Amino acid sequence: MPMPPEHFADWTYYPELLAQAVPRYTSYPTAAEFGDESFEAPQREALTAVRGDVSLYVHIPFCQEICWYCGCNTSAANRADRLASYLDALHAEIRGVSRLLHPSVKVSRIAFGGGSPNAIHAHEMVRLVDALLVNFRVPWPVISIEIDPRSLTPAWLTAIRGIGIVKASLGVQTFDPQVQAAIGRVQPRDDIARAMAGLRKSGVDSINFDLMYGLPFQDDAILAQTLDEATTMGADRIALFGYAHVPHMIPRQRRIDASQLPDQVARFRMAAQGYRQLVDAGYQPVGFDHFALPGDGLAQAALGGHLRRNFQGFTDDQASVLIGLGSTAISQFDSAYVQNEKNTGRYRMLTGAGQLAGRRGVRRSAEDRRRGAVIEALLCQGEAHIDADLALAAAARLMPFAQRDLIRWDGDRLILGRGSEPYARSIAAVFDAYRSGERRFSSAV
Ligand code: SF4
Repeated sequence: MPMPPEHFADWTYYPELLAQAVPRYTSYPTAAEFGDESFEAPQREALTAVRGDVSLYVHIPFCQEICWYCGCNTSAANRADRLASYLDALHAEIRGVSRLLHPSVKVSRIAFGGGSPNAIHAHEMVRLVDALLVNFRVPWPVISIEIDPRSLTPAWLTAIRGIGIVKASLGVQTFDPQVQAAIGRVQPRDDIARAMAGLRKSGVDSINFDLMYGLPFQDDAILAQTLDEATTMGADRIALFGYAHVPHMIPRQRRIDASQLPDQVARFRMAAQGYRQLVDAGYQPVGFDHFALPGDGLAQAALGGHLRRNFQGFTDDQASVLIGLGSTAISQFDSAYVQNEKNTGRYRMLTGAGQLAGRRGVRRSAEDRRRGAVIEALLCQGEAHIDADLALAAAARLMPFAQRDLIRWDGDRLILGRGSEPYARSIAAVFDAYRSGERRFSSAV
C-alpha cells in the first residue's frame, strides 16, 4: 500500500514529482544548451541591433577567501598583478562594447557581481564606475552590488556612498558557527551586523541576504534561528536557496562532509518551514525561493505582476537586454544568449586584442522565445497563457500535477495552485523542449 503523502507547513511532499532534476531557468534555453564555439559574430550583431533601455552586469571573479560550497567562477584575490591585469581587460571590454552600441541605447541598471566585487580595492571600483559613466549613456542608473561582509572595509563604504549604490546583496548562508565551519565560510554575526549598519549609513536602501538550507549539520531549528536573525536584522530581501552537493561538477565541494547532509525529506521540510516562517514574519513570497518586505521593489514587482527572471534570479528589472561584462558574464539579447570567455587569462588576451569576449552561447529561435515566455510567466506570475499546440503536447506530463491540485486551467491559462512553489520548476520544465530526461541539474528542492 502506498504511504499517504507527508505535509510540511503549507506544502505536501510528493517525491515522485521531484525525482526529475530540473534547471533553475534563469534563461531559456538554459546554459546547458550553450554551444562551445566563438560567439563573437552573434554578439557583435546583437550589440549593434540593440535599441533603448539595457542593463549592465559586471563580473569580478575574485574573492578574499573561497567557500567550499561555491559554484561560482572565482579565484583567490591574493595576487595584485592578476587583479590589475583583469581590471585592465575589463576596461578594454567596456570601451570595445560601448563603441558598438547605437546612440539610443541607455543604461538603466548596473549590477556588480562575482565572486565578490569588494575583493578589489575600493578606488578600483570607483574607476570602473567612472569608465561605465564615460563610455555608456547612463542618465540615472540603479546600481547594485554583491558584497562579502567579511571584507567590507570603511574605504568600501565610502565608495558605495560616493558612487550612489542603492542595492546590496550579502552572502550570509547561515548564522550557525558549526554549519559555517562545515561549509568553509566562517563569518561572525557581528561582521554581518556591522556590514548592515555601514551599508544603511552609506545610503543602501535595499539589502538582500543569500541564505541556504540543506547544509551539513543543519536541522529545522538551526535554519529557523538563521531566518530569525535575518529578519531581526531587517534584511529587505531574502533568497533561500537549497544547497546542491555536486562535487563531481564543483571539486571544491569535496571538502564538505556529505555524510552530514540532510536527506531529501529533511530538505523539503526545511524549505517548507522556511517559507512559512518568512511569510509569518511579514515577507512577501517572490517566485519560488525569494522573499521581500512589502515596501521593497521586488515585492511590489511580484504583487504588481511585473516580476522578471534573468541570470541574476528574480528581479524587478524590466529591460529585456542585459549586457554582461567581464569573464564568464552572460549577455541576454532577443536573438541570443552569449557567455564571455571563462578563463581570465584568455579573456585578457581577447579583450587586449580588441576582440569581443563571447565564447559560448545559443541563438534563440522564435520557438525558444515563445516557450521561454511561458516558463518565465509560470515562475514569476504563477500563471501563463498556453497556446493550444503546447497545451496539447504538455497534457500528459501535466496530469500528475493536476491530479494533486498543484495546477488548474482557466480557459487557456495554466495557473499554479496553493503549495505549488516546490514544484514550480518541474511544472515549467514540461514546456522545455530541450529536456531529455537525464539527470544533469539540481533537485527542484
Ligand atoms: S564569497 Fe561568494 S563568490 Fe566568493 S567563494 Fe564565497 S560564496 Fe563564492
